Amino acid sequence: KPIIEFKDVNKIYDNGTVGLKDINLTVKPGEFLVVVGLSGAGKSTLMRTINKMHNPSSGKVLVDGVEVTNLKGRSLRELRRKIGMIFQNFNLVKRTSVEHNVLSGKISYYPTWKSILNLYSKADKQQAAVALDRVNLLEKIYMRADELSGGQQQRVAIARTLMQDPKIILADEPIASLDPLTTQAVMNDLKRLNEEDGITVVVNLHSVPLALQYADRIIGMRGGQLVYDQPIDQVTEDA
Ligand code: ADP
Ligand code: ADP
Repeated sequence: KPIIEFKDVNKIYDNGTVGLKDINLTVKPGEFLVVVGLSGAGKSTLMRTINKMHNPSSGKVLVDGVEVTNLKGRSLRELRRKIGMIFQNFNLVKRTSVEHNVLSGKISYYPTWKSILNLYSKADKQQAAVALDRVNLLEKIYMRADELSGGQQQRVAIARTLMQDPKIILADEPIASLDPLTTQAVMNDLKRLNEEDGITVVVNLHSVPLALQYADRIIGMRGGQLVYDQPIDQVTEDA
């Protein structure tokens, strides 16, 4: 069964801007999907419709077989726990430790008094260490987040999502502010989690060469529409 499914999805913003137009899309579990398109093409809107940061104006979005449109409360938190989000600007707490940033991934959707007071269990700390090891940054665990390079900060953000044990990672222009070398490190981490842990990865990118290097499948967007959809082994030069 598909992990993500869009059925005739349209999104029109309140001011009349078309965000998505007639999107039909099926993502298989374990796919590494790259969404390419120019700024304003609808990539972020597509992504934000998956975890219900936005609701579609019409049509249906299903995640792991569950229609997300009407979810609230506990079932919405359960949906969002399954979905890790990575942003262009990392969204770390700069002046606190790498460890705390990673641990904070644990509490996002299930706040408890202990978590609000930053009282983490030994098991949580072990999980944070494992998550950092997955992105090869265990040796940075006690550094302050803002002492790390941009690429390292983004990998900390990836480790943070691992605290949710996500089925899906959505990465919105994750490498937009990074240099080529750190770009590869971030993309390699996403690829490793995809291949070794079976996490479905959806990445918005501007760069077609990078998409070709990492994707199982590339979709192209323009004006809110899906204008291109090919598995990577069928991508041709003229496409
Ligand atoms: P970026 O292109 O850098 O990803 P975003 O699309 O995230 O920027 O836009 C930043 C914020 O502004 C978001 O909350 C987004 O919903 C909002 N936004 C983007 N475009 C418009 C627009 N045309 N009108 C109103 N709000 C917009
Ligand atoms: P991309 O991620 O490909 O840059 P977006 O999904 O951010 O594209 O934007 C798609 C279109 O929707 C753009 O025209 C953008 O300006 C518009 N848009 C995005 N967010 C908002 C918003 N909150 N309100 C109004 N228009 C928006």
